[in-house]
Amino acid sequence: MANKLSPIAPEWLKVPGDINSIDAKVWPANVKRDSNGELLVAGVTVDELANQFGTPLYVYDQDDFMARAEGIKIALQDAAARIGTTAKVYYASKAFLCTEIVSWVDQLGLSIDVASGGELAAALAGGIDPARIGLHGNNKSLTEIGRAVAAGVGAIVVDSEIEIERIASVAGAQDKVQAVRLRINTGVHANTHDFLATAREDQKFGIPIADAPALVAKIRADRHLKFLGLHQHVGSQIFSSDGFIESTRRLIALHAQLLSGGDIPELNIGGGFGINYKPADNAPSVAKVAFAITDAVAAECSRLGIKVPALAFEPGRALVGNAGITIYNVGTIKDVKITDGAEPATRKYVSVDGGMSDNARPALYEAEYHTVLASRTSKAVPSLSRVVGKHCESGDIVVLHDYLPADVSPNDLLAVAATGAYCYSLSSNYNWLTRPPVVAVQNGQARLIVRGETEADLFARDVRYQAAHAGSASRNEKG
Ligand SMILES: *Cc1c(COP(=O)(O)O)cnc(C)c1O
Repeated sequence: MANKLSPIAPEWLKVPGDINSIDAKVWPANVKRDSNGELLVAGVTVDELANQFGTPLYVYDQDDFMARAEGIKIALQDAAARIGTTAKVYYASKAFLCTEIVSWVDQLGLSIDVASGGELAAALAGGIDPARIGLHGNNKSLTEIGRAVAAGVGAIVVDSEIEIERIASVAGAQDKVQAVRLRINTGVHANTHDFLATAREDQKFGIPIADAPALVAKIRADRHLKFLGLHQHVGSQIFSSDGFIESTRRLIALHAQLLSGGDIPELNIGGGFGINYKPADNAPSVAKVAFAITDAVAAECSRLGIKVPALAFEPGRALVGNAGITIYNVGTIKDVKITDGAEPATRKYVSVDGGMSDNARPALYEAEYHTVLASRTSKAVPSLSRVVGKHCESGDIVVLHDYLPADVSPNDLLAVAATGAYCYSLSSNYNWLTRPPVVAVQNGQARLIVRGETEADLFARDVRYQAAHAGSASRNEKG
């Protein structure tokens, strides 16, 4: 079969040899088709999941998450051990956070990063030792800092000069010494989509290298603060180690310079390891990137004649992205004729019962996803398709470019791969859609871990509605 079936298909999109195949590169380890061709997640069919919990539905393969996260922890620890040091691994919880996943992270012995009072509350409620929590954010409120210090978080990442005084005063008032890191903007562009590249000069995060020595001196001079070390986060969905390495070199040069003022136990290299969203992607393994980073750390430390510090990493997406999928029900279908190109073409628009409210990434970043017909297999020819949601925006797209069988029909179930990170956490109630439930599947058992929203949840914050229904609600409560 030709590599390119449709004249409007992007170059990277190959016509699948088998439209029903499940590519291990993007799907959770325990997703496969059963003997009827239906998609199974850890032994539970998508039909059973849809019947029990409804659609759209976020589904996590729990064993896949545990194995993937453990593998990444070991890869980062091995990479550190190779150069004679250790690695602390923080799960960047903004990728996907509920108390259940905090308990998984806890079982794995990982640490956890939070970036707001709400995320801190969730991490604490999940039962993880506060000493294993790191607090981030470029605009932490005094209340948030106060809660973090009172809880005894292991580290707060300082993102601006004014935060040094804020954290010190809060720690002083609580008669505590708070460990802090200083986030540095090394000015390195990570090799990724522009909106995701965070370590550049013209953006809000971190402190320029030139300003760091004065700020570190200020931290060191305060008896309520303890300087843990420098921090960077160079971006997200990074495939090449080059940006990581260049930024890390600059960070180590600064680290070496600061050693004249005292010991610095740690160096936090951040997260951002890329994953495969679609079969055409070739994300390097975390082990490969980690080895390249730690080799550079060792070389740079030896060149500067300094001791290799203890390292910390903060992967989010790499732990959880490929462990989760979304199941949708197909509603309407349109074959849209496109006549303004060099050759006339057709794109099949397949509308599902969710959209940008449960996956904002295509609308935000033009992120690409991969989908398959999940409730059955098909012998039909591949048809260039776009999976779209039900919102009032033409940018409401779930899968921009993929092939689906030409006979995809209303009430078929679709599964979209690699939705485990930044989908639930970026979800919204746009168009008054209720947020989908989240289930974890393991050994043939599906377990609700976050219930779906109901319309009553949406009305719960509507003051006029509540005032109008207050009487009947209390009558109902009294039975
Ligand atoms: C978002 C974030 C991460 C995690 O990024 P991923 O791309 O999910 O690995 C790590 N550190 C910081 C400071 C972040 O903001």
